[in-house]
Amino acid sequence: MRPIDKLRQMLLAQRRALFEQVARAADDLRWLDTNTHPETEEEAQEQNIANLLARLDDRGNAELRIVDRALTLIEEGDYGTCEDCGDPIPVERLEVLPTATTCVFCAEARERNSRQAVAS
Ligand SMILES: [Zn+2]
Repeated sequence: MRPIDKLRQMLLAQRRALFEQVARAADDLRWLDTNTHPETEEEAQEQNIANLLARLDDRGNAELRIVDRALTLIEEGDYGTCEDCGDPIPVERLEVLPTATTCVFCAEARERNSRQAVAS
């Protein structure tokens, strides 16, 4: 199996797991919505769970977008190229992080930049 095929499999598996996670969170949220009793003392607790599920849902959807983007790049033949400097991303990095769209150096540079943006 070519490394790219293996990475594609990993991404597809990740996509499936995320779909399930998001679907489950959405299901639980619906259940809570229809079973919330505003006057009971559990209300606050249910609200907490709802918030948690909503966050899980958001994060799951954000991750799904990242996975989808990587899969699109594979289809277009642009996968494995750093989108900042254009260098090939080493397969070892992609095997650890199949959704990586930058090389390690550019990823670190981005992180430094975002930290600076937060600090200033
Ligand atoms: Zn780079």
